[in-house]
Amino acid sequence: MARRAMVAGNWKMNGKRQAQGVIEQVVAGLADRGEKAAGVDCILCPPSTLLAGAAERAAGSPLTIGGQDAHAEPSGAHTGDISAEMLADAGAQCVILGHSERRADHGETDAYISAKVAAAWRAGLTAILCLGETEAQRDDGDAVETVLAQLDNSLPEGGTGANLAVAYEPIWAIGTGRTPLLHEISEIHSALRDALIARIGSEAGNVRLLYGGSVKPSNAAEIFAADNVDGALVGGASLKAEDFLAIIDAAAATHA
Ligand code: PEP
Repeated sequence: MARRAMVAGNWKMNGKRQAQGVIEQVVAGLADRGEKAAGVDCILCPPSTLLAGAAERAAGSPLTIGGQDAHAEPSGAHTGDISAEMLADAGAQCVILGHSERRADHGETDAYISAKVAAAWRAGLTAILCLGETEAQRDDGDAVETVLAQLDNSLPEGGTGANLAVAYEPIWAIGTGRTPLLHEISEIHSALRDALIARIGSEAGNVRLLYGGSVKPSNAAEIFAADNVDGALVGGASLKAEDFLAIIDAAAATHA
């Protein structure tokens, strides 16, 4: 089954108002590419302070805007939090959930992340569900088991190719410049595909599996060529329009 490629950028806690210029550059770059990038779903997830402005700048272009997290409740007494409904209202179409930095910084558990995924779906957002092992878990030979357990416990019932993408992000590869070997990425992605088939049947064939962790223009093409890799979740390299667009070009070339 042919899946559209997806390249999503995660700006994390980076970007003040002037960073809207990067959104404008990406929108312009996609317009220049026209049909060449038409096979790739392109997403940028800026900090929430920039989200509404980014969505306005991206309106009518192939770029869509996403959030980086959402609370499990639609509204209420949760100081500092943002709900999926609020993200949708600001123009987001998707949201990253379960990122390892949120799991570490905010003690997010699989069960809590599962509630957030359900909340994203309730608000009509696509969830980009992040999973990944620590370096110690990989060294101990527990990478596959760890990631599959995270999927099992953080994915609620009801996933489809339209409302879900899964990002495999080994924690030790995020922001370090290190990446797993290609066969290690494929091993995890194939295991994720099989687990999704067991959970949601044939719909699993429509769910995009993204790799994340030090993806950059120089390694994107080889990563995208690996089995069961449908795109990338990109951190640092998504902060520069030129690099982000080069990664989109690699996805478009590999999935043409
Ligand atoms: C991320 O944080 O989702 C990520 C993949 O970061 P980087 O590309 O910078 O490793």
